Amino acid sequence: MICDNITVGQNGHLLFAGQDTTALAKQYGTPLYLMDEDKIRENCRLYQSAFREHFGDKARPLYASKANSFKRIYEIMREEDMGIDVVSSGEIYTALQAGYDLSRAYFHSNNKTDEDIIYGMENHIGYFVADNVEEIKAIEAQAARRGIRQKVLLRLTPGIDPHTYEAVSTGKVDSKFGSAIETGQAEEITVFTLAQPHVELMGFHCHVGSQVFGEDIFERAAVVMLEFIADMKRKHGYMAPQLDLGGGYGVRYVESDPYLDVPTKVGQVAAAIKEACARLDIEMPEIHMEPGRSIVGAAGMTLYTCGTVKKIPGYKSYVSVDGGMTDNPRYALYRSAYTCLAANKMNEPADFTCSVVGRCCESGDIVQEGVQLPSSIGRGDLVAVCTTGAYNYAMACNYNRLPRAPIVMLRGGESYVAVRRESFADLCKNDL
Ligand SMILES: *Cc1c(COP(=O)(O)O)cnc(C)c1O
Repeated sequence: MICDNITVGQNGHLLFAGQDTTALAKQYGTPLYLMDEDKIRENCRLYQSAFREHFGDKARPLYASKANSFKRIYEIMREEDMGIDVVSSGEIYTALQAGYDLSRAYFHSNNKTDEDIIYGMENHIGYFVADNVEEIKAIEAQAARRGIRQKVLLRLTPGIDPHTYEAVSTGKVDSKFGSAIETGQAEEITVFTLAQPHVELMGFHCHVGSQVFGEDIFERAAVVMLEFIADMKRKHGYMAPQLDLGGGYGVRYVESDPYLDVPTKVGQVAAAIKEACARLDIEMPEIHMEPGRSIVGAAGMTLYTCGTVKKIPGYKSYVSVDGGMTDNPRYALYRSAYTCLAANKMNEPADFTCSVVGRCCESGDIVQEGVQLPSSIGRGDLVAVCTTGAYNYAMACNYNRLPRAPIVMLRGGESYVAVRRESFADLCKNDL
């Protein structure tokens, strides 16, 4: 199976985290997001123990909460002692509702508004990750008003192309994000930031892309960043205390995706970092990474009820489900691959080729094409989509006035609602 938390019961029902998905669909209704809480915690611990082993106690993995942001997930991150990334005031608000201590939060985004900066400072956010000089000016101005010294990291682009999908590649020189090392802008912003009285430069950040499996992407990015750090030390006498390498490790969406072993990967990055530090004669900064997808992706599964099955002889066949682009827009956005399964018919051969499509009034509302399901699939059957824990609920919308699906957490053989299903009244709650 795609992930070790997906199995099949003797009755031919798909099990997720050991629980019968057919029973869960009956209990909570569909469309339904399931989140395997034990898997989320396991992934946090994998990163943390690898970090402790290779980078020492101060280094830390930060959960990139844009991957899946809701109150309960921040409680889990608090309990697991994880740092977090946020990218908006809305994510800060949600983390605060969970009692998360924001001194361990990093505020990203290529365009923080003044309101965001003020909101972050009001709530004593630990760090801003500044994208450009203009943003440093805005942070300096707000920090000066409050008489504080705000910690920041600078987001740099190391000029590395991870060869993943264009829309999720962010580390190239011409990216919308960050200041490029190659063009000299990274040095300019460093010098500028060091001269600001109300901003404390804590180091540098980069994020090369997402769904990265490629052999040595992080290693190469780390080396470029360390060379820059050494350069700044030599030229300006500034030694960066922190180096944040961003997120991006991939997860398995389909059988052809490789397995990625986090402890092995972190070990390889650590080896490259230690070697570079020795060569450059600098002490190793505090190392951070920002996994999002690789913490929550495989911890998620979406359940749908099948409706119309349409066979167009000589052309193609469609299996329509009761959700789609409103709960998972990723195929529409990026043609992302997913594994679809007939959750109540896992013991039947999957020999019927079809497109699994959503219920929205858009031809592009497709969950996946070229899917193999049992030929008996029909109204009332249950369709599961695997690996939906990242960038699904986080990207959900109410197009066609469809209420957002709930999130049910699975923990130690039990289940509970973390986000309830939206009601029709919720849909109108802001309508005057
Ligand atoms: C999106 C993002 C991440 C998380 O990426 P994943 O692929 O989910 O691990 C981390 N850091 C930054 C700055 C990001 O934009």
